[in-house]
Amino acid sequence: MSTQTLSLADRVAARPGDFRVLTGDRPTGPLHLGHYFGTLRNRVRLQRSGVELVVVVADYQVLTDRDVAERLGPTVDGLVLDYLAAGLDPARATIFTHSAVPALNQLVLPFLSLVSVPELQRNPTVKDEVAHSRQSSVSGLMFTYPVHQAADILFCKGNLVPVGQDQLPHVEVTRTVARRFNERYGPVFPVPEALLGAAPLLLGTDGTKMSKSRGNAIALAATPDETARLIRGARTDADRHITFDPDGRPGVAGLVQLAALCLDRDPHEVAAGIGDAGAAALKRTVTEAVNEFLAPMRARRAAYAQEPGLVREVLRAGNARANAIAEQTLEEVREAMGTRY
Ligand code: ATP
Ligand code: MG
Repeated sequence: MSTQTLSLADRVAARPGDFRVLTGDRPTGPLHLGHYFGTLRNRVRLQRSGVELVVVVADYQVLTDRDVAERLGPTVDGLVLDYLAAGLDPARATIFTHSAVPALNQLVLPFLSLVSVPELQRNPTVKDEVAHSRQSSVSGLMFTYPVHQAADILFCKGNLVPVGQDQLPHVEVTRTVARRFNERYGPVFPVPEALLGAAPLLLGTDGTKMSKSRGNAIALAATPDETARLIRGARTDADRHITFDPDGRPGVAGLVQLAALCLDRDPHEVAAGIGDAGAAALKRTVTEAVNEFLAPMRARRAAYAQEPGLVREVLRAGNARANAIAEQTLEEVREAMGTRY
């Protein structure tokens, strides 16, 4: 079979050495189950299969939807602990903070010249994030978010991007930027492909996308009691008969899906198992499933948190490596654009 007809997952499995993954998160709060089933689990699987991983802690991008990034230090530390607990191995993965890599950020200027304002205005994820923003008007940083993300991905020539569904339009912008740069200046960048996880859009306790910033998320690091309380407060409906109907009953379906993912079972079967027992029984099942699933990860996280200096050492090494990669790419960009004097 030719490589063209194989699925992306099969191509990665066949030749892991051909891929470099770039992925990351905004340090806006603790990672949650949406991250885990949307992208984090894929990252860990890819790493285990031998793919090189570069992970960006997108600290500048915290400012896309708020004026000031509060408590950035502890939030970044917590994010790195979440990564380690989930199974990212800093000996093999480069984990770095966006703001510490000047050469990466320099790519944003030429990249901005490659996209038009109407293209940026059409981006559905930017529209959605603007709708949920804490700011009264859209900042230039929010508007150009997908272009910074293109720099995050392309600085290391990432060609595989494991993401949730909300990120697909952004990856599309990266593909456009890479293609246009290569056409204008010569072949420097790969055109990356997005890889969706098992739950590309996990719903939160209010029936909309689970998000760190929307108060509807179950954090990986939450205690069992917090988890129980969050799930008890989840929005459901009056119908006692539990079904899995994501369009008609998003609240109930989100809970059923959570249990199904944690139990590794089919969501229709999980719903049928609860039958007429109602939302309270569903919530008990979900709580147990989530707490059991997360227990080993939470234990690992607590152990890592006891190691003084661990997180800062991971970031120091990651930032050094990311800077070396970015400087090399910037040299190639200067060469291609004729800006080496
Ligand atoms: P914020 O609300 O601050 O934007 P977030 O929860 O949306 O936070 P991000 O840091 O923006 O998290 O996203 C990091 C990665 O996790 C992206 O690849 C995104 O697609 C994925 N992701 C986030 N939320 C979900 C979700 N509910 N379901 C699936 N994937 C998700
Ligand atoms: Mg987001």
